[in-house]
Amino acid sequence: ATETHQQPEVNIGLVGHVDHGKTTLVQALSGSWTDQHSEEMKRGISIRLGYADATFRKCPEVEEPEAFTVEETCPDGSESEVLRTVSFVDAPGHETLMATMLSGAALMDGAVLVVSATEEVPQAQTEEHLMALDIIGVENIVIAQNKIDLVDRDQAVRNHEQIQEFVAGTVAEDAPIVPVSAQQEVNMDLLIDAVEREIPTPDREASDAARMFVARSFDINRPGTTWADLKGGVVGGSLVDGSLEAGEEIELRPGREVEEGGQTEWRPITTEVRSLQAGSQSVDVATPGGLLGVGTGLDPSLTKGDALAGQVAGEPGTLPPTHEAFEMDVELLDRVVGEDGDEIEEISTGEPLMLTVGTATTVGAVTSARSGECEVSLKRPVCAESGSKIAINRRVGARWRLIGIGTLK
Ligand code: GDP
Ligand code: MG
Repeated sequence: ATETHQQPEVNIGLVGHVDHGKTTLVQALSGSWTDQHSEEMKRGISIRLGYADATFRKCPEVEEPEAFTVEETCPDGSESEVLRTVSFVDAPGHETLMATMLSGAALMDGAVLVVSATEEVPQAQTEEHLMALDIIGVENIVIAQNKIDLVDRDQAVRNHEQIQEFVAGTVAEDAPIVPVSAQQEVNMDLLIDAVEREIPTPDREASDAARMFVARSFDINRPGTTWADLKGGVVGGSLVDGSLEAGEEIELRPGREVEEGGQTEWRPITTEVRSLQAGSQSVDVATPGGLLGVGTGLDPSLTKGDALAGQVAGEPGTLPPTHEAFEMDVELLDRVVGEDGDEIEEISTGEPLMLTVGTATTVGAVTSARSGECEVSLKRPVCAESGSKIAINRRVGARWRLIGIGTLK
């Protein structure tokens, strides 16, 4: 059944408050646990973006919506038909990791907002994540009202009303609200149906120049691997345009910091695509959509520990410019999202901001600020096109809070 291994064609973010059931839902739909890192396991939260693919299927003999499934075999013993393979980006719910959520949002074609029926709506990150989707422009949203196994009918109805009230006037205003129990795998068919309707596969041109947003990078060699067996560095992320083929040359920007005669500068890196992993499968050609691992000819010390996360990869000579400083138009939110809801003051010269551009997160110092625009000098440069959306975070107390959206000039 080659069908079961088709490449994912759409990226769906799982967002929402911590413990509301995002990871459990991904597991119910894909059979794999996205909290793959031992460190994450220990802390019980998804520190980095977790990836998992799921193939949505349909039993032709069964009525809708019960026909929707992730099982290969239908109740009558026949084989289910493949609809499409989707890739989940399981964003962390922990509030200090908003930057990770924002950089993940750059890869999302749509999102499932998971809201627990057991708590008042909205919880802090429910609100913050919805705001982030709004800012990044993720408009195709399904709301999963989770943990319905833990509440009675009245509570479920009240919670549903709270959700409706909360999303009114937001990007999720018309999103369907699907009651589910991720843990008991209740109403997964309804959820698949809603995702199939609300989060279509975007139209993309495979003929365009390849453009990949890098979200992770690794060294896959075990300690002590001999030189002859050493595998090149791996970058993980999503192709948003074009296609990539094994053997092809790619450029990564900003690349790496090079020191020469006391001066440091960032130089693009060029390397060869040695292997491509789409989901769990090796492929010769990768197309847009889904999360992709690219085996390269790079020295693995360059890719170790997410060193290249936030960079952009593509056909040499076609990538946007690298900025060590930039000017942006600024639109501030009315108030800080979350419990406190303080008013947001204008950005001032000299203040540090945390900026998310594509999958890159960088700290910048404001070198000049006027109403509606400012100039920042970046600690780590970013590769981005004019017009790119930038999530602007300010330090409030001990944490970075989302205060507005920028547009790169
Ligand atoms: P995340 O932080 O949003 O990824 O939440 P997790 O998926 O890690 O779930 C948090 C806790 O809630 C875990 O103990 C899950 O087993 C539990 N949980 C998730 N979904 C459900 C559900 O539908 N019903 C019940 N009873 N528990 C759930
Ligand atoms: Mg989780």
